[in-house]
Amino acid sequence: MKPLVDKELCVACGECIDACPVGAISVGDECAEISDECTLCGMCVDACQYGAISMPDVGTGADEDLSRYKGVWVFVEWRHGTVHRVSYELLTVGRKLAEKKGTDLCAVIQGHKLDGVEKDLFRYGAKTVYVVDHPSLAHFTDEIYGNVLVELVRRYRPEILLAGGTSTGRSFIPRVAAMLQTGLTADCTELDINDEGLLLQTRPAFGGNIMASILCPYRRPQIATVRPKVLRAEPLDMPVDGQVVRPDLPGACFVSRVEVLEEQVLEGPGANIAEADVVVSGGRGLQRKENFAMLEELASLLNGAVGASRGAVEAGLADPSQQVGQTGRTVAPVLYMAVGISGAVQHVVGMQGSKVIVAVNRDPEAPIFDVCHFGVVADLFEFVPAFIRKIRKERGEEV
Ligand SMILES: Cc1cc2nc3c(=O)[nH]c(=O)nc-3n(C[C@H](O)[C@H](O)[C@H](O)COP(=O)(O)OP(=O)(O)OC[C@H]3O[C@@H](n4cnc5c(N)ncnc54)[C@H](O)[C@@H]3O)c2cc1C
Repeated sequence: MKPLVDKELCVACGECIDACPVGAISVGDECAEISDECTLCGMCVDACQYGAISMPDVGTGADEDLSRYKGVWVFVEWRHGTVHRVSYELLTVGRKLAEKKGTDLCAVIQGHKLDGVEKDLFRYGAKTVYVVDHPSLAHFTDEIYGNVLVELVRRYRPEILLAGGTSTGRSFIPRVAAMLQTGLTADCTELDINDEGLLLQTRPAFGGNIMASILCPYRRPQIATVRPKVLRAEPLDMPVDGQVVRPDLPGACFVSRVEVLEEQVLEGPGANIAEADVVVSGGRGLQRKENFAMLEELASLLNGAVGASRGAVEAGLADPSQQVGQTGRTVAPVLYMAVGISGAVQHVVGMQGSKVIVAVNRDPEAPIFDVCHFGVVADLFEFVPAFIRKIRKERGEEV
């Protein structure tokens, strides 16, 4: 969907080109053309002094009775026999949202051989756990997982639906939102309820330069995803005395054009950075790929993993699986060391949840010093080897 250009009114002046923040507009001989890059932000509509550009009519859904939608739902991700940690994080925030709205928190889980899984979900405050256990759900496929979730939403009408910004969530939640013709705010960093009772979905926008608070006033459910480790998981002292509902779904929900033949867990140097308690990340300041060896040595001394900035990845110093940040992984370890990283906002959004941040940079003005707890202004090629020697010495090892 794109804004509409009225060819009669457009004079091909090109003002809308400058107004478009994503470069989606070009001007041909006669009038402006808008490409699929358009994010429907509406800046071109405001910029056009001839009134030639208008937003498409997406309807307001005002004809639908939104009061029929009740409750906060969390899609619980079940992979390889365990609940993904993001689901506990979402249940924790979902509990707070449900309290504010005076409604119930519910969990919905799909998979196969899910016996007893609900106990853990009651510990996080779910009053109702919808369990769909079916052999076709043993492996994740967008179509079946999407069909099942859409069917459940249509049947039980939750007001809010939260899901993890994981590869699974990213893969099928947009499909769910599209099938339900509602909005989706991906990769939120904060969720709250505003004075009108709407879900306030906050996330970085325009390349991380602003934090946008997004509302979905006319459609239901209001759907948001949050990446793992952005929020904290807090179980209740006493589990909720909840109920399990096992809905009977039509066979058509379980039909897919995709057959999963095999699942392989992706390996790579950054495979464990999201789980590690210590992450030592290197930036473009490392200069050469071989120099990452000293970060690996430091990380292994601290029982940690090695991450990287996008600058380092783009320069070929590190593997894309190691990238931390807006377009990489989100990490929140106990200790995060940023070595030779300037601290661009797109990097910071991926590590600002870390408990202790230590920055090593030779430029005292580097923005990373605004977000770190401890800053070391030094040449990393002097500091890191000296730090390694100190750790080894204190442990009584040969140096
Ligand atoms: C849409 C978008 C998404 C993005 N997503 C991400 C993302 O997910 N992750 C990410 O990291 N970036 C991301 N970026 C890129 C981001 O804006 C920065 O360009 C990138 O983080 C810079 O990487 P860097 O800090 O390693 O490099 P630089 O900015 O070049 O910084 C290198 C730092 O090393 C220091 N240094 C150099 N030599 C030494 C030395 N010998 N000793 C000590 N310090 C030294 C310098 O002082 C400098 O501060 C994104 C950008 C955009 C537009």
